[in-house]
Amino acid sequence: MNDPGGRAREGVVTREIVAKSVLSPSRVYDYVVNPYRGCQFACAYCYARFMRRFTGHREAWGAFVDVKVNAAQLLRGELARKRRGEVWVSGVCDPYQPLEETYGVTRACLEALLGQGWPVRVQTKSDLVLRDLDLLRGGADVEVGLSLSTADETIRRIFEPRAPATAVRIEALGRLRAGGVGTYAMIAPLLPGAEGLVPLLAGKVDYIYVDRMNYHYARPLYGRHGLEGFLNDAYFRELKALLTRQAREAAIPCRVLF
Ligand code: SF4
Repeated sequence: MNDPGGRAREGVVTREIVAKSVLSPSRVYDYVVNPYRGCQFACAYCYARFMRRFTGHREAWGAFVDVKVNAAQLLRGELARKRRGEVWVSGVCDPYQPLEETYGVTRACLEALLGQGWPVRVQTKSDLVLRDLDLLRGGADVEVGLSLSTADETIRRIFEPRAPATAVRIEALGRLRAGGVGTYAMIAPLLPGAEGLVPLLAGKVDYIYVDRMNYHYARPLYGRHGLEGFLNDAYFRELKALLTRQAREAAIPCRVLF
């Protein structure tokens, strides 16, 4: 960590750091680029909070963000040296969390990636991605996915209180697609109310991924809100069948990952 003190900005301790590498191997796509370390959205289920064990941050998940201020410069060098492949932006942070409005590190990384013609898969929960529509629509091989977990705003506020509302994300998908950008919805993790999502996506996405994911960190919230019944295998089996049927009826290609 280059700046152990950091500055409180937008309610989080923000540190500008100089990263050593930014184009990392990934098990999801060939590579992943994380312009930030930490995520202001602080979703209750987020598995990325495990990284605090390795980074030495003392703040809670969501209360710190390291900004990789040299990410784009570093990336340009790595793109010149490494074998071309699909790049995921991002894996363990949201590339369009609010600080991106100030720092623009994600935009600068996209300029580097798309400028070199690399295939890019952007994944976010934020409509801030619309700021970069000009850039994204010019990419030869770029897709933008919005992560969705429930159509029920009460549930969304319990598990993702700092992330944009589901309707805002779906509206962003529609505007991206209308603007000429390939889009997908990543429906994961499946939260109560996920059964209402697919009908909202018709005409807004090219395809859908559905995944169950890991509920370890969210279990206490399920208990506190009397939602334990939404964690049993029977619920997920029924939901999988329902979402698959809804996608077929809406003529949206759908891949279930569990
Ligand atoms: S937006 Fe993604 S990375 Fe950020 S806290 Fe939520 S799940 Fe984690």
